[in-house]
Amino acid sequence: MDRIYLDHAATTPVRPEVLEAMLPHFSDNGYNPSSVHAEGRQARAGLDAARERTAAVFGCKPREVTFTGGGTEADNLGILGVARARRERGRHVVTTCIEHHAVLHACDVLREDGYEIEVLEVDARGLLDPDRFGAALRDDTVLAAVMYANNEIGTVQPIAELARRARARGVTFLTDAVQAPGQLPLAVEELGVDLLAISAHKFYGPKGVGALYVRAGTPVAPIIHGGGQEHGRRSGTENVAGVTGLAVGLELAEAERPAFAQRVGGLRDRLQAALLARIPDLTVNGDGAPRLPNNLSVSFEGLDAEPLLIGLDLEGVAASAGSACAAGSVEASHVIAALGLPERRWRGTVRLSLGRLTTQAEVDRASGLLERLVAAQRTPAAAS
Ligand code: PLP
Repeated sequence: MDRIYLDHAATTPVRPEVLEAMLPHFSDNGYNPSSVHAEGRQARAGLDAARERTAAVFGCKPREVTFTGGGTEADNLGILGVARARRERGRHVVTTCIEHHAVLHACDVLREDGYEIEVLEVDARGLLDPDRFGAALRDDTVLAAVMYANNEIGTVQPIAELARRARARGVTFLTDAVQAPGQLPLAVEELGVDLLAISAHKFYGPKGVGALYVRAGTPVAPIIHGGGQEHGRRSGTENVAGVTGLAVGLELAEAERPAFAQRVGGLRDRLQAALLARIPDLTVNGDGAPRLPNNLSVSFEGLDAEPLLIGLDLEGVAASAGSACAAGSVEASHVIAALGLPERRWRGTVRLSLGRLTTQAEVDRASGLLERLVAAQRTPAAAS
Protein backbone atom coordinates (compact mmCIF):
# COMPACT_ATOMS: atom_id res chain seq x y z
CA MET A 1 0.00 0.00 0.00
CA ASP A 2 1.22 3.53 -0.80
CA ARG A 3 2.59 5.54 2.05
CA ILE A 4 0.75 8.59 3.34
CA TYR A 5 2.90 11.62 4.10
CA LEU A 6 1.34 13.85 6.75
CA ASP A 7 4.46 15.77 7.79
CA HIS A 8 4.47 18.72 5.39
CA ALA A 9 5.26 21.14 8.22
CA ALA A 10 8.64 19.38 8.54
CA THR A 11 9.41 19.58 4.86
CA THR A 12 7.87 19.20 1.41
CA PRO A 13 9.28 17.39 -1.62
CA VAL A 14 10.54 19.51 -4.52
CA ARG A 15 7.76 19.79 -7.09
CA PRO A 16 8.46 19.02 -10.77
CA GLU A 17 8.11 22.62 -12.00
CA VAL A 18 10.67 23.76 -9.43
CA LEU A 19 13.16 21.05 -10.31
CA GLU A 20 12.81 21.81 -14.00
CA ALA A 21 13.50 25.51 -13.43
CA MET A 22 16.55 24.72 -11.31
CA LEU A 23 18.26 22.21 -13.60
CA PRO A 24 19.86 24.63 -16.12
CA HIS A 25 21.57 26.42 -13.25
CA PHE A 26 23.48 23.26 -12.40
CA SER A 27 24.68 22.77 -15.98
CA ASP A 28 24.47 25.16 -18.95
CA ASN A 29 24.09 28.20 -16.71
CA GLY A 30 26.16 26.95 -13.77
CA TYR A 31 28.49 29.93 -13.45
CA ASN A 32 29.42 32.50 -10.85
CA PRO A 33 27.10 35.54 -10.90
CA SER A 34 29.94 37.79 -9.75
CA SER A 35 32.14 36.96 -12.75
CA VAL A 36 32.31 39.70 -15.36
CA HIS A 37 32.49 37.41 -18.40
CA ALA A 38 29.46 36.42 -20.47
CA GLU A 39 28.93 33.20 -18.50
CA GLY A 40 28.93 35.17 -15.25
CA ARG A 41 26.53 37.74 -16.62
CA GLN A 42 24.18 34.97 -17.66
CA ALA A 43 24.25 33.54 -14.14
CA ARG A 44 23.67 37.05 -12.76
CA ALA A 45 20.57 37.34 -14.94
CA GLY A 46 19.26 34.15 -13.32
CA LEU A 47 19.94 35.52 -9.85
CA ASP A 48 18.31 38.87 -10.67
CA ALA A 49 15.25 37.12 -12.08
CA ALA A 50 14.84 35.02 -8.92
CA ARG A 51 15.10 38.15 -6.77
CA GLU A 52 12.55 40.03 -8.88
CA ARG A 53 10.09 37.14 -8.78
CA THR A 54 10.46 36.75 -5.02
CA ALA A 55 10.04 40.50 -4.53
CA ALA A 56 6.87 40.44 -6.66
CA VAL A 57 5.28 37.94 -4.23
CA PHE A 58 6.30 40.06 -1.23
CA GLY A 59 5.20 43.25 -3.02
CA CYS A 60 8.58 44.88 -2.35
CA LYS A 61 11.63 46.10 -4.26
CA PRO A 62 14.15 43.46 -5.39
CA ARG A 63 16.86 45.11 -3.27
CA GLU A 64 14.78 44.37 -0.19
CA VAL A 65 15.21 40.61 -0.72
CA THR A 66 18.30 38.91 0.73
CA PHE A 67 18.80 35.25 -0.11
CA THR A 68 20.15 33.01 2.65
CA GLY A 69 21.04 29.40 3.31
CA GLY A 70 17.58 28.56 4.72
CA GLY A 71 15.02 29.70 7.26
CA THR A 72 17.30 29.33 10.27
CA GLU A 73 19.87 31.59 8.69
CA ALA A 74 17.23 34.15 7.66
CA ASP A 75 15.97 34.29 11.26
CA ASN A 76 19.51 34.54 12.65
CA LEU A 77 20.47 37.29 10.20
CA GLY A 78 17.36 39.30 11.01
CA ILE A 79 17.64 38.95 14.77
CA LEU A 80 21.36 39.23 15.32
CA GLY A 81 21.76 41.66 12.43
CA VAL A 82 19.13 44.15 13.58
CA ALA A 83 19.93 43.92 17.30
CA ARG A 84 23.61 44.56 16.66
CA ALA A 85 23.02 47.33 14.12
CA ARG A 86 20.64 49.14 16.50
CA ARG A 87 22.72 48.64 19.63
CA GLU A 88 22.97 52.42 20.13
CA ARG A 89 19.22 52.68 20.72
CA GLY A 90 19.19 49.94 23.35
CA ARG A 91 19.49 46.26 24.13
CA HIS A 92 15.95 45.15 24.78
CA VAL A 93 14.39 42.49 22.51
CA VAL A 94 10.83 41.15 22.68
CA THR A 95 9.77 37.74 21.41
CA THR A 96 7.37 34.90 22.32
CA CYS A 97 7.74 31.55 24.04
CA ILE A 98 6.42 29.60 21.04
CA GLU A 99 8.99 30.77 18.47
CA HIS A 100 11.06 28.24 16.55
CA HIS A 101 14.50 27.52 18.02
CA ALA A 102 15.99 29.43 15.08
CA VAL A 103 14.62 32.54 16.81
CA LEU A 104 14.89 31.52 20.46
CA HIS A 105 18.49 30.34 20.21
CA ALA A 106 19.52 33.42 18.24
CA CYS A 107 18.03 35.43 21.13
CA ASP A 108 20.12 33.32 23.54
CA VAL A 109 23.23 34.55 21.72
CA LEU A 110 22.09 38.14 22.22
CA ARG A 111 21.44 37.43 25.90
CA GLU A 112 25.02 36.27 26.27
CA ASP A 113 26.08 39.55 24.65
CA GLY A 114 24.25 41.50 27.36
CA TYR A 115 20.86 42.04 25.72
CA GLU A 116 17.69 41.70 27.76
CA ILE A 117 15.31 39.25 26.07
CA GLU A 118 11.67 39.47 27.07
CA VAL A 119 9.86 36.25 26.17
CA LEU A 120 6.09 36.80 26.13
CA GLU A 121 3.60 34.07 26.97
CA VAL A 122 0.66 33.08 24.80
CA ASP A 123 -2.85 32.02 25.84
CA ALA A 124 -4.17 28.45 25.93
CA ARG A 125 -4.95 28.63 22.19
CA GLY A 126 -1.39 29.72 21.42
CA LEU A 127 -2.21 33.36 20.67
CA LEU A 128 -0.27 36.45 21.69
CA ASP A 129 -2.38 39.29 23.08
CA PRO A 130 -1.57 42.53 21.19
CA ASP A 131 -2.08 44.57 24.39
CA ARG A 132 0.42 42.42 26.27
CA PHE A 133 2.79 42.83 23.34
CA GLY A 134 2.32 46.60 23.21
CA ALA A 135 2.91 46.91 26.94
CA ALA A 136 6.26 45.09 26.65
CA LEU A 137 7.70 47.61 24.16
CA ARG A 138 10.03 50.21 25.69
CA ASP A 139 12.12 53.13 24.55
CA ASP A 140 15.18 50.90 24.51
CA THR A 141 13.47 48.03 22.62
CA VAL A 142 15.33 47.52 19.36
CA LEU A 143 13.60 44.50 17.93
CA ALA A 144 10.43 42.43 18.28
CA ALA A 145 10.25 38.94 16.72
CA VAL A 146 6.87 37.20 16.51
CA MET A 147 6.22 34.23 14.26
CA TYR A 148 3.47 34.49 11.64
CA ALA A 149 2.26 30.87 12.03
CA ASN A 150 3.44 28.26 14.48
CA ASN A 151 5.10 25.14 13.09
CA GLU A 152 3.67 22.77 15.72
CA ILE A 153 0.11 23.90 16.32
CA GLY A 154 -0.45 26.13 13.29
CA THR A 155 -1.80 29.16 15.16
CA VAL A 156 -1.63 32.40 13.20
CA GLN A 157 -0.70 35.55 15.09
CA PRO A 158 -2.28 38.97 14.37
CA ILE A 159 0.91 40.14 12.66
CA ALA A 160 -0.44 43.34 11.08
CA GLU A 161 -1.72 44.56 14.45
CA LEU A 162 1.50 43.63 16.26
CA ALA A 163 3.67 45.23 13.57
CA ARG A 164 1.61 48.42 13.74
CA ARG A 165 2.18 48.69 17.47
CA ALA A 166 5.90 48.00 17.10
CA ARG A 167 6.40 50.60 14.41
CA ALA A 168 4.48 53.19 16.40
CA ARG A 169 7.12 52.73 19.14
CA GLY A 170 10.08 52.79 16.71
CA VAL A 171 10.71 49.08 17.25
CA THR A 172 11.90 47.02 14.28
CA PHE A 173 9.48 44.13 13.71
CA LEU A 174 10.53 40.72 12.35
CA THR A 175 8.21 37.86 11.57
CA ASP A 176 9.32 34.27 11.03
CA ALA A 177 6.99 33.39 8.16
CA VAL A 178 8.59 30.03 7.41
CA GLN A 179 5.28 28.14 7.72
CA ALA A 180 3.21 30.78 5.88
CA PRO A 181 3.87 30.61 2.11
CA GLY A 182 1.03 29.03 0.17
CA GLN A 183 -1.25 29.34 3.19
CA LEU A 184 -1.21 33.01 4.29
CA PRO A 185 -0.73 36.31 2.44
CA LEU A 186 2.86 37.55 2.27
CA ALA A 187 2.30 41.14 1.08
CA VAL A 188 4.76 42.96 3.32
CA GLU A 189 3.09 46.38 3.06
CA GLU A 190 -0.24 45.04 4.26
CA LEU A 191 1.49 43.14 7.04
CA GLY A 192 3.53 46.23 7.90
CA VAL A 193 6.57 44.19 8.92
CA ASP A 194 10.20 45.32 8.65
CA LEU A 195 11.64 41.85 8.18
CA LEU A 196 10.09 38.55 7.08
CA ALA A 197 11.86 35.19 6.85
CA ILE A 198 10.93 32.25 4.59
CA SER A 199 12.47 28.88 3.69
CA ALA A 200 12.08 27.20 0.28
CA HIS A 201 11.72 23.61 1.49
CA LYS A 202 8.42 24.39 3.19
CA PHE A 203 6.80 25.24 -0.16
CA TYR A 204 8.07 22.50 -2.48
CA GLY A 205 11.43 24.17 -3.11
CA PRO A 206 14.92 22.97 -2.24
CA LYS A 207 16.33 22.65 1.27
CA GLY A 208 19.07 24.98 2.46
CA VAL A 209 17.67 28.06 0.67
CA GLY A 210 15.79 30.90 2.31
CA ALA A 211 15.04 34.58 1.93
CA LEU A 212 14.80 37.53 4.26
CA TYR A 213 12.74 40.57 3.33
CA VAL A 214 14.38 43.66 4.82
CA ARG A 215 12.45 46.93 4.51
CA ALA A 216 14.57 49.64 2.84
CA GLY A 217 16.33 51.71 5.48
CA THR A 218 16.36 48.96 8.14
CA PRO A 219 19.91 48.52 9.41
CA VAL A 220 21.09 44.89 9.43
CA ALA A 221 24.67 43.96 10.34
CA PRO A 222 25.87 40.89 8.40
CA ILE A 223 26.54 37.67 10.30
CA ILE A 224 28.46 35.97 7.49
CA HIS A 225 31.47 37.88 6.25
CA GLY A 226 33.35 37.61 2.99
CA GLY A 227 32.95 38.82 -0.58
CA GLY A 228 30.05 41.18 0.10
CA GLN A 229 27.38 39.44 -1.99
CA GLU A 230 23.65 40.09 -1.42
CA HIS A 231 24.25 43.85 -1.10
CA GLY A 232 26.79 43.19 1.64
CA ARG A 233 24.24 41.38 3.82
CA ARG A 234 25.21 37.78 3.15
CA SER A 235 28.56 36.90 1.71
CA GLY A 236 29.19 33.74 -0.28
CA THR A 237 28.82 32.77 -3.94
CA GLU A 238 25.12 32.83 -4.65
CA ASN A 239 23.15 29.59 -5.02
CA VAL A 240 21.48 30.49 -8.31
CA ALA A 241 19.84 27.09 -8.76
CA GLY A 242 18.53 27.20 -5.21
CA VAL A 243 17.12 30.72 -5.32
CA THR A 244 15.51 29.98 -8.68
CA GLY A 245 13.81 27.02 -7.03
CA LEU A 246 12.73 29.25 -4.15
CA ALA A 247 11.28 31.88 -6.49
CA VAL A 248 9.37 29.41 -8.65
CA GLY A 249 8.06 27.47 -5.64
CA LEU A 250 6.97 30.71 -4.00
CA GLU A 251 5.16 31.98 -7.10
CA LEU A 252 3.29 28.71 -7.48
CA ALA A 253 2.45 28.55 -3.77
CA GLU A 254 1.08 32.09 -3.87
CA ALA A 255 -0.93 31.48 -7.05
CA GLU A 256 -2.47 28.30 -5.61
CA ARG A 257 -3.04 29.72 -2.13
CA PRO A 258 -6.84 30.26 -2.28
CA ALA A 259 -7.47 26.82 -3.77
CA PHE A 260 -5.07 25.21 -1.28
CA ALA A 261 -6.80 26.83 1.69
CA GLN A 262 -10.16 25.64 0.49
CA ARG A 263 -9.27 22.08 -0.53
CA VAL A 264 -6.63 21.21 2.05
CA GLY A 265 -8.41 23.17 4.80
CA GLY A 266 -11.50 21.10 4.02
CA LEU A 267 -9.53 17.85 4.31
CA ARG A 268 -8.00 18.99 7.60
CA ASP A 269 -11.48 19.81 8.94
CA ARG A 270 -12.68 16.38 7.82
CA LEU A 271 -9.78 14.67 9.57
CA GLN A 272 -10.35 16.71 12.73
CA ALA A 273 -14.09 15.96 12.73
CA ALA A 274 -13.44 12.23 12.25
CA LEU A 275 -10.97 12.11 15.15
CA LEU A 276 -13.28 14.05 17.43
CA ALA A 277 -16.21 11.81 16.53
CA ARG A 278 -14.37 8.51 16.93
CA ILE A 279 -11.80 9.04 19.67
CA PRO A 280 -12.71 10.15 23.19
CA ASP A 281 -10.49 12.37 25.35
CA LEU A 282 -8.49 14.34 22.85
CA THR A 283 -7.57 18.01 22.61
CA VAL A 284 -7.25 19.87 19.32
CA ASN A 285 -4.41 22.27 20.00
CA GLY A 286 -4.94 25.81 18.83
CA ASP A 287 -8.70 25.21 18.56
CA GLY A 288 -10.57 28.50 18.53
CA ALA A 289 -7.59 30.44 17.13
CA PRO A 290 -6.92 31.21 13.46
CA ARG A 291 -4.89 28.24 12.22
CA LEU A 292 -2.95 27.21 9.13
CA PRO A 293 -5.31 25.26 6.84
CA ASN A 294 -2.99 22.25 6.66
CA ASN A 295 -2.24 21.81 10.37
CA LEU A 296 -3.83 19.50 12.91
CA SER A 297 -2.15 19.07 16.29
CA VAL A 298 -3.97 16.65 18.58
CA SER A 299 -3.19 15.48 22.09
CA PHE A 300 -4.58 12.03 22.97
CA GLU A 301 -5.02 11.66 26.69
CA GLY A 302 -3.40 8.74 28.47
CA LEU A 303 -0.79 7.60 25.96
CA ASP A 304 2.66 8.48 24.64
CA ALA A 305 3.14 9.91 21.17
CA GLU A 306 6.22 7.84 20.40
CA PRO A 307 4.64 4.35 20.17
CA LEU A 308 1.69 5.90 18.35
CA LEU A 309 3.98 7.44 15.74
CA ILE A 310 5.86 4.16 15.37
CA GLY A 311 2.53 2.36 14.90
CA LEU A 312 1.50 4.89 12.25
CA ASP A 313 4.84 4.57 10.50
CA LEU A 314 4.61 0.78 10.41
CA GLU A 315 1.18 1.10 8.83
CA GLY A 316 2.48 3.53 6.22
CA VAL A 317 1.66 6.96 7.71
CA ALA A 318 4.39 9.55 8.32
CA ALA A 319 3.54 12.08 11.04
CA SER A 320 5.48 13.72 13.85
CA ALA A 321 5.25 14.52 17.54
CA GLY A 322 4.56 17.78 19.24
CA SER A 323 7.02 16.77 21.88
CA ALA A 324 10.71 16.02 21.90
CA CYS A 325 11.70 12.44 22.59
CA ALA A 326 15.01 11.79 24.30
CA ALA A 327 16.19 8.25 25.16
CA GLY A 328 13.61 6.73 27.48
CA SER A 329 11.74 9.94 28.21
CA VAL A 330 9.33 12.25 26.47
CA GLU A 331 9.53 15.97 27.18
CA ALA A 332 6.85 18.48 26.34
CA SER A 333 7.89 20.65 23.41
CA HIS A 334 8.19 24.28 24.47
CA VAL A 335 5.16 25.08 22.30
CA ILE A 336 2.86 22.42 23.77
CA ALA A 337 4.14 23.30 27.25
CA ALA A 338 3.13 26.93 26.64
CA LEU A 339 -0.49 25.87 26.14
CA GLY A 340 -0.63 24.60 29.71
CA LEU A 341 -1.92 21.09 28.96
CA PRO A 342 -1.59 18.61 31.84
CA GLU A 343 1.08 15.93 31.38
CA ARG A 344 -1.43 13.12 30.75
CA ARG A 345 -2.47 15.10 27.66
CA TRP A 346 0.72 16.61 26.27
CA ARG A 347 2.55 13.27 26.26
CA GLY A 348 0.24 12.05 23.52
CA THR A 349 0.60 14.97 21.11
CA VAL A 350 0.79 14.24 17.40
CA ARG A 351 1.09 16.74 14.53
CA LEU A 352 -0.58 15.86 11.25
CA SER A 353 0.27 18.32 8.48
CA LEU A 354 -1.33 17.98 5.06
CA GLY A 355 0.03 18.98 1.66
CA ARG A 356 -1.00 19.89 -1.87
CA LEU A 357 -1.26 16.27 -2.95
CA THR A 358 -3.03 14.92 0.15
CA THR A 359 -6.28 13.16 -0.77
CA GLN A 360 -9.57 12.46 1.00
CA ALA A 361 -8.85 8.73 0.87
CA GLU A 362 -5.57 9.38 2.67
CA VAL A 363 -7.06 11.40 5.52
CA ASP A 364 -9.84 8.81 5.89
CA ARG A 365 -7.30 6.02 6.12
CA ALA A 366 -5.27 8.00 8.64
CA SER A 367 -8.25 8.71 10.88
CA GLY A 368 -9.32 5.04 10.86
CA LEU A 369 -5.81 3.97 11.70
CA LEU A 370 -5.52 6.47 14.52
CA GLU A 371 -8.79 5.29 16.01
CA ARG A 372 -7.50 1.71 16.03
CA LEU A 373 -4.01 2.53 17.34
CA VAL A 374 -5.18 4.89 20.07
CA ALA A 375 -7.71 2.33 21.31
CA ALA A 376 -5.07 -0.41 21.31
CA GLN A 377 -2.56 1.71 23.19
CA ARG A 378 -5.03 2.88 25.75
CA THR A 379 -6.22 -0.61 26.60
CA PRO A 380 -3.09 -1.94 28.40
CA ALA A 381 -2.81 1.26 30.41
CA ALA A 382 -6.46 0.96 31.45
CA ALA A 383 -5.97 -2.67 32.47
CA SER A 384 -2.84 -2.07 34.57
N1 PLP B 1 11.07 28.72 11.58
C1 PLP B 1 10.02 27.89 11.53
C2 PLP B 1 8.69 28.34 12.03
C3 PLP B 1 10.18 26.59 11.01
O1 PLP B 1 9.13 25.76 10.97
C4 PLP B 1 11.46 26.20 10.54
C5 PLP B 1 11.70 24.83 10.04
O2 PLP B 1 11.26 23.84 10.61
C6 PLP B 1 12.52 27.12 10.61
C7 PLP B 1 12.28 28.37 11.13
C8 PLP B 1 13.90 26.77 10.13
O3 PLP B 1 13.95 26.72 8.72
P1 PLP B 1 15.07 25.85 7.98
O4 PLP B 1 14.71 24.43 8.17
O5 PLP B 1 14.99 26.26 6.55
O6 PLP B 1 16.39 26.23 8.56
